[in-house]
Amino acid sequence: MPLTLDQLNAAPLPEALQMLDGLYEHSPWIAERALAQRPFASLAQLKHAMTRVLDEAGVEPQLALIRAHPELAGKAMVSQTLTAESTNEQTKAGLTNCTPEEFAHIQQLNADYNARFGFPFILAVRGPRGTGLTKAQIIEAFERRVHGHPDFERAECLRNIHRIAEIRLNDKFGFEPVDGQRVWDWQETLAQHSDPGYAEKGQLTVTYLTDAHRACALALSHWMKDCGFDEIQIDAVGNVVGRYHPAAPGAKYLLTGSHYDTVRNGGKYDGRLGIFVPMACVQKMHAAGRRLPFGIEVVAFAEEEGQRYKATFLGSGALTGHFKAAWLDQKDADGVTMREAMQHAGLNVEDIPKLQRDPAQYLGFIEVHIEQGPVLGELNLPLGIVTSINGSVRYVGEVMGMASHAGTTPMDRRRDAACAVAELMLYAEQRAAQDGDSVATVGMLQVPNGSINVVPGACRFSLDLRAPTDAQRDALVRDVLTKLHDICQRRGVRHQLEETMRAAAAPSDPAWQARWESACTALGVPLHRMPSGAGHDAMKLHEIMPQAMLFVRGENSGISHNPLESTTADDMDLAVQAFDHVLQQLAQDS
Ligand SMILES: [Zn+2]
Repeated sequence: MPLTLDQLNAAPLPEALQMLDGLYEHSPWIAERALAQRPFASLAQLKHAMTRVLDEAGVEPQLALIRAHPELAGKAMVSQTLTAESTNEQTKAGLTNCTPEEFAHIQQLNADYNARFGFPFILAVRGPRGTGLTKAQIIEAFERRVHGHPDFERAECLRNIHRIAEIRLNDKFGFEPVDGQRVWDWQETLAQHSDPGYAEKGQLTVTYLTDAHRACALALSHWMKDCGFDEIQIDAVGNVVGRYHPAAPGAKYLLTGSHYDTVRNGGKYDGRLGIFVPMACVQKMHAAGRRLPFGIEVVAFAEEEGQRYKATFLGSGALTGHFKAAWLDQKDADGVTMREAMQHAGLNVEDIPKLQRDPAQYLGFIEVHIEQGPVLGELNLPLGIVTSINGSVRYVGEVMGMASHAGTTPMDRRRDAACAVAELMLYAEQRAAQDGDSVATVGMLQVPNGSINVVPGACRFSLDLRAPTDAQRDALVRDVLTKLHDICQRRGVRHQLEETMRAAAAPSDPAWQARWESACTALGVPLHRMPSGAGHDAMKLHEIMPQAMLFVRGENSGISHNPLESTTADDMDLAVQAFDHVLQQLAQDS
């Protein structure tokens, strides 16, 4: 019989402790301290409480916990002295069934890893879906992580230990994150479509209106039909739009969704998670024969990343009336214009202006998105509340000094352009850090025609500055540009700077943000409010209606625009429950 939370909350401590036995390898003290915080409203709350106990315990107990774990496919497995939980997990991953070569390879990795870090390699072998990583995936992760930084690896081991505990806890309570698994499976299936040149290498790349892109649109529209959406359409820019009708005609719609295009060699969840989470909600509602007092419109945006053409937010821009006719004449790397690509895809260019939405017909826009950063992972929180999408400004610039002989020019007589930019970079780093939540990046840096024995006469650079409000961003920009001016004056060099992009911050609408917050609270997930450093479709919709976003924790330190981008079925499941909760709140309010 699976346990229930009520039983756990009501049990005397020794019994409750018995119920949580074996969650953390040979370390019952973690569950014991967490139990002091009973009652728990949800498994998510209990899971987080245990992560807090370990966080607060400090480094030594953390290392002791890591060292209490068996090596993967290690001696304990061979001598059959693993805990029952570990045996089960390692068997499921096929680790008890290694070839002699694989076994020897894993032993070598174990030895290397241990020698380097002083603790064993820990991986939640049941993986993000909970049903088991393959042997190949495990070995791949091992080979990658053996080169990690010690601090990073310690944190990564702890995150994996929490994931192991999460799955063990689910097993005890007979909980399966079925909605999250469904969302996970959709994403895996959709990721089978990839552009030529990448597909062969097993990489995911879906750029605007390629065959893979159109296959995705088709798959999405079929799945929307299966979910029970009433109207499904691929619109004039390639957005897949599903509408689930309200209980009575004439009511407003909730607008939601995200993008299904990807960057080159990108992750499976960026954008797509925000399409599948509301789809899972509609599927459940349809299965239960339920309608809401408002309709739901889920849009899978065709283009957000600006990969094939230099037009970003093309999909959501079409809904806000910002599709620029001039974009149609842009050419891709093969010389195919956007107009040709659209005609080839059977899209009707003349209909694009009709896609503009009338805000009066909508309640607002919400978007679920993978965090694409490390913050939630470090806090052991599955969900985060977005307070604002950062405003940003980008520049490309060049400092012009004087090229001179590296051997004969004394230090006090140089006009070194690269040193001037280096000074600017360090200033920008420190100035952005001062704000706490501003960011500044010099992502491109080049000494044109530089040589090893020449003082750089020129240095080209880019500058990307972002902050949660326009005022904060503008203050950052002002200080950085003033500094650039001062540096150039002092060093006797000149500079030029071209602004290439400026986007206003998109603060979340307070009422909509509050709905995400009460959803998290209802799920027992502690609130964490954070700005979004990356741009999102919600930024475009912000121009015509209230919006608020929900972030979902990413695995692997939140890495994104990378194949390692990942999140768990459990976290996706919470996102579906949170979305569902927002729908219920709206239904009550209307
Ligand atoms: Zn995205």
